[in-house]
Amino acid sequence: MKYLIIGNGVAGTTAAAHIRNLDKEGSIRIITEEAYPYYSRIRLIHFLGGEVDEKDLVIKKADWYEEQNIELSLNTEVVDIDINKKEVFISPDDRIHYDRLLLATGGVSFVPPISGANSEGVFTLRTLKDANEILEFVKRVINVSL
Ligand SMILES: Cc1cc2nc3c(=O)[nH]c(=O)nc-3n(C[C@H](O)[C@H](O)[C@H](O)COP(=O)(O)OP(=O)(O)OC[C@H]3O[C@@H](n4cnc5c(N)ncnc54)[C@H](O)[C@@H]3O)c2cc1C
Repeated sequence: MKYLIIGNGVAGTTAAAHIRNLDKEGSIRIITEEAYPYYSRIRLIHFLGGEVDEKDLVIKKADWYEEQNIELSLNTEVVDIDINKKEVFISPDDRIHYDRLLLATGGVSFVPPISGANSEGVFTLRTLKDANEILEFVKRVINVSL
């Protein structure tokens, strides 16, 4: 059995762990467009506040995926799904077959149509990438004003 999970947040990762408990033999692959293994979004504010390091945010490290025999594909965006052929597309020509598919794709930050919302220095905070961009901006602004 080939299980394919799109999304490596709490939903996708917890599902993968439960599937592995129930099926020791099946192949499990998690795909995420993010560059990091499962990390705590909740602690991103502590990361921004300098209370924890990037590595402390990571909940499931590489050895966990190895022990569980779960393949994790980082930096991989799913762009389309063909449910009839049971294939997902990670580029127009690159497809992955599955027997069971789980969409655990979470949500996206909604930006209300407020005047100035697109200005420099206005951010949303959902991912570790967002947090690093905020920190880089803050460092740049502080350097300019000194
Ligand atoms: C700063 C912050 C603080 C929070 N604090 C709390 C809290 O205190 N308590 C609480 O209950 N909740 C909190 N939340 C909300 C909580 O983090 C979310 O409810 C939770 O992350 C949802 O988990 P999920 O697995 O459903 O989705 P997500 O964590 O959003 O994971 C979905 C994953 O799917 C990936 N993905 C989406 N589309 C694709 C695609 N096409 N191809 C490949 N990958 C894709 C995304 O990149 C992402 O990695 C907080 C969130 C943030 C941002």
